[in-house]
Amino acid sequence: MESKYDHQKFEREIYRKWEDPGAFKPGNGKKPFCIIMPPPNANDPLHVGHAMFVAIEDILIRYQRMLGRKTLWLPGTDHAGIETQYVFEKKLAKEGKSRFDFDRETLYKMIWNYVQDNSNVAIDQIKRLGASADWSRKKFTLDPEIVDFVLDTFIKLHQDGLIYRDLKLVNYCVKCGTAFSNLEVGHEERKTPLYYLKYGPFTLATVRPETKFGDTAIAVHPDDKRYKKYVGQEIGAEGLLGKFKIKVIADSSVDPKFGTGAVKVTPYHDHNDFAIWKRHPELPKPAQVIGQSGKLNQNAGKYSGLRVMKAREVIVEDLKRLGLLVKVDENYHNSVGVCYRCGAVIEPLPMKQWFLRVKPLTEKALEALSKKQVRVYGSGHDKILKHWLENLEDWNISRQIVWGIRIPVWYQKNSTEYVVAKESPGKNFVQETDTFDTWFSSSQWPVVTLKTNQPKDFETFYPTDVTETGYDILPFWVMRMLMMGIYLTGEVPFKKVYLHGLIRDEKGQKMSKSKGNVINPLVMIDKYGADALRMALVIRSTPGQDKGMGEGDVRGMRNFSNKIWNAARYINLKSQNSNLKTTIQNPKPDREFYKRLSQTASLATKHLSNYRIGLAAETVYNEFWHWFCDEAIEKNKRQEISDKAIFEGLVTFLKLLHPFMPFVTEAAWGEIKKQKTKNNEQRTMMEEMLISAEWPK
Ligand SMILES: [Zn+2]
Repeated sequence: MESKYDHQKFEREIYRKWEDPGAFKPGNGKKPFCIIMPPPNANDPLHVGHAMFVAIEDILIRYQRMLGRKTLWLPGTDHAGIETQYVFEKKLAKEGKSRFDFDRETLYKMIWNYVQDNSNVAIDQIKRLGASADWSRKKFTLDPEIVDFVLDTFIKLHQDGLIYRDLKLVNYCVKCGTAFSNLEVGHEERKTPLYYLKYGPFTLATVRPETKFGDTAIAVHPDDKRYKKYVGQEIGAEGLLGKFKIKVIADSSVDPKFGTGAVKVTPYHDHNDFAIWKRHPELPKPAQVIGQSGKLNQNAGKYSGLRVMKAREVIVEDLKRLGLLVKVDENYHNSVGVCYRCGAVIEPLPMKQWFLRVKPLTEKALEALSKKQVRVYGSGHDKILKHWLENLEDWNISRQIVWGIRIPVWYQKNSTEYVVAKESPGKNFVQETDTFDTWFSSSQWPVVTLKTNQPKDFETFYPTDVTETGYDILPFWVMRMLMMGIYLTGEVPFKKVYLHGLIRDEKGQKMSKSKGNVINPLVMIDKYGADALRMALVIRSTPGQDKGMGEGDVRGMRNFSNKIWNAARYINLKSQNSNLKTTIQNPKPDREFYKRLSQTASLATKHLSNYRIGLAAETVYNEFWHWFCDEAIEKNKRQEISDKAIFEGLVTFLKLLHPFMPFVTEAAWGEIKKQKTKNNEQRTMMEEMLISAEWPK
């Protein structure tokens, strides 16, 4: 055995030795165990969050495999709709082009090719971390059989009355050119001037004077004595585009303490106003004054063509000039919706979109939770999940982008009639241009990946055992998988949810490029080995809680890799020179040694079985370093513990450490195996490869 463990030399070779003979395939165990890998963006490089999910899931998978279960970790990649199109458009922009320079088919093809060219980026990097996933079962969200299944799901939902098309206010990003679901809108506290405008006898406070051409009413609180006499009346007022009339209504959602207690109602550009308008059927149909371009339209008269912020500036000036601006509160703060993707301010716009009626699905999911059919590991996130499910609004599944699965709806030309079908129903039909929200396909992931794989996969592995991901995508992915899984199969898609926390820097700060504190997993693997990175990520981690980590931690775990190697090397040299049957004078220390060894194995087993991965890692780390190496090996050097005991101790520890640090343990195992042929007793103790060895009892 070489004197130092060289991860560069061993890692790729060992990975091949596992994968080539099929060690990642489910095997012949009786009881199945299955995890569906969260599909990363096909073309994205790995970040530390990916490394975390790979480490945790691979630990669970390797542990269960060693317990002898029929273990499947099913991998896949995601087309990641808006994310990928956004990256691609940035690339186009660098070439001086935009998506509007291409027709739909060309643009789709270009993105397809781009994704194909980079499709192995994520997979190759996941392999480098040691992921023992069954790559022969890998799926991509745009594989034809997946698309087919997703289209069938939409058709079934439509038949069941759970799909509808409606004009609603959507969260539209004019920069990204698409609507988003409520979940994808970030909220930022901002200082926004509050303008007090004159509307006839009223003074109204608003942060958005530029939408005034879309006003449908003035609203006051029903108990507000100041305005009682106006309620139900139409008042005349002077405006920027001349005189106009507007109705005064009473609505209990108006806060009498905000501004003057009277507000303008602009249904097509404000979610609250839209709700007020819905409650007052006596009001006329609103006018839309801002288009998808983010510019004011013809309904804004001479202000048409101006971008929102510019329009606000010009309009405020004109109001001032006409004496219609009473005052401005410059210190007003409000919450502004921003695009989670690009940071632009979200524009509420009226659009016809496809919605999924979620109530029947959330009810079933809540029922499954209350019946404990799903258990959530994640520091209180079970309550958060419940809260989401109880308050979820209908899901807008339409996206105005090309990179995705096109909604299978066909409109009859010159008519509002439509048909839901996979194929065109006839010549005079045109297809819906919207694509599905990318989460619509990933919400079906556990079902569709098992149903379109090898025969019996679904019957064998569904419901899967664990779904594992960062807590930040609990509502986007986990909740929706639960809803759709139950809808499609009548059963929960997974029995357990393990949510890991975010990885922060050693000071506990969020990692970001601008702060320069980002840990690049590939750099860490090159420098210290995949084992060191994995162990540094998981040790002392707690589900649902963030964890701080720096390069020093990874370096520390590289030292631990060396410790494992050195212990194996010492014992390997010993076993070359002894037949391991040497009896020693006093058997008592051996008995104590075996007792502690078995206690360590039981404790690690208990922690892993209860999904306390961080504690399991800490247990094997401490016991190996501080007891086995620092105490037991020293005693063996003084001949107080037998060679046989110390050899068996090493075998047990390599097994206990394997799920956490698969490469160095497999490498050490291989080296020791070379020696074993001399000794029959040793041979029976060691299976061919550590990955398929039996977990210590
Ligand atoms: Zn955006």
